[in-house]
Amino acid sequence: MDAARFLSCPEHSTRRQFLKTLSQGIGSAALAASAAPYVGRAALPDDETLGVALVGLGNYATGQLAPALQETTKCELTGIVTGTPSKAETWKKKYDIPEENVYNYETYDRIADNDNIDIIYVVLPNGMHAEYTIRAAEAGKHVLCEKPMATSVQECKDMIAACETAGVKLSVGYRLHFEPHHQRVMTLGQDEVFGPVTVMQNGFGFRIPDSATDEPHIEWRLNKEMAGGGALMDVGIYAIQGARYVTGEEPVAVTAQEYKTRPEVFSDVDETLFFQLEFPGGTVVDGSTTYNGSYNRLYATARDGWFEISPAYGYGGVEGRTHDGPMDFKSNVNQQARQMDAFAECIRHDRSPRVGGKEGLRDLEVIEAIYESIDAGNTRVEIG
Ligand code: NDP
Repeated sequence: MDAARFLSCPEHSTRRQFLKTLSQGIGSAALAASAAPYVGRAALPDDETLGVALVGLGNYATGQLAPALQETTKCELTGIVTGTPSKAETWKKKYDIPEENVYNYETYDRIADNDNIDIIYVVLPNGMHAEYTIRAAEAGKHVLCEKPMATSVQECKDMIAACETAGVKLSVGYRLHFEPHHQRVMTLGQDEVFGPVTVMQNGFGFRIPDSATDEPHIEWRLNKEMAGGGALMDVGIYAIQGARYVTGEEPVAVTAQEYKTRPEVFSDVDETLFFQLEFPGGTVVDGSTTYNGSYNRLYATARDGWFEISPAYGYGGVEGRTHDGPMDFKSNVNQQARQMDAFAECIRHDRSPRVGGKEGLRDLEVIEAIYESIDAGNTRVEIG
């Protein structure tokens, strides 16, 4: 059936079938000719939600994303992908998920046939992001992928290309783009409200205790193949993000240093890193990350003042201030719910996501340059 007829045929113009048609690019020429972006809205009543399947039911999916999906209004949890049968049983009961929407890593590709799942949210160890994003795209599903987007620049490029080829949208789980304090510092920095930002100090770290190294969610983080790197890939990436969205620029060079106090634990990945990013407008960023202590802060000094967020990168409890006084936002927004609803709205209205694949790619370019600087004996490495 051509796309125009499909859309006008009442028994076929359900929300899910419409999205599937759109995402798979079926009859894209006919769609382009016959359907403005708002056909999506017409076919999708405002009170209907998009279906989300979480892939990998670990700490973040269990503790943050599934609860957030109880607060979303534009999308809902309709499916799961897990390699652990006992988790499947628990989740089916807890979230009322029907058996036909439960997959494991072998049956994953069959999601292509499931009209109740529109968005696949990849919450797997970093080394699995690329494969499961590309397979989701090939199944004709829109993809939200956790940070870091992947473990290399090349993987990010492959993911973007796969999603473009499939005609599906791709976003990265940078939840802070949906948090008011972070949105404020984007404006303060990019609009030069206190003049140009000259120097920033951004850092995020937490301590991995020696006693926790065999816990499943820590074990893969210490394995280079699964994690791609250590603290930098996991939490240092927030410091890079912060620098990029405060300046609104891409760094042109980096110089980095690595320290290991527990080489027996961090034999495969980095424990503590410092990095200095140079931006084209003149901002210099003093960045750091560690698996050996807890801190998280974003600080910027500008020509005529300063601003900071501290604590900066948590799910809640975010606090910000400028030289004029505190930022007066409530810090208890559900960042994850906001991000998922925003992504659902982009799909519904055929808009580009606020945090697209290129955001993830740019951070991996910086991360690779940081590792290159360290490997080359802390030399200055140009980026891009
Ligand atoms: P966990 O280890 O807690 O969960 C990962 C899950 O992936 C496992 O529970 C398992 O689920 C599945 N999995 C499949 N294969 C493997 C494997 N070989 N080894 C380990 N797990 C496997 O990790 P997190 O939830 O902490 O992190 C997952 C992702 O989310 C990471 O990319 C991380 O960077 C990101 N993250 C993002 C946060 C944010 O604030 N945006 C916060 C925390 C994490 P199952 O048993 O269902 O198969």
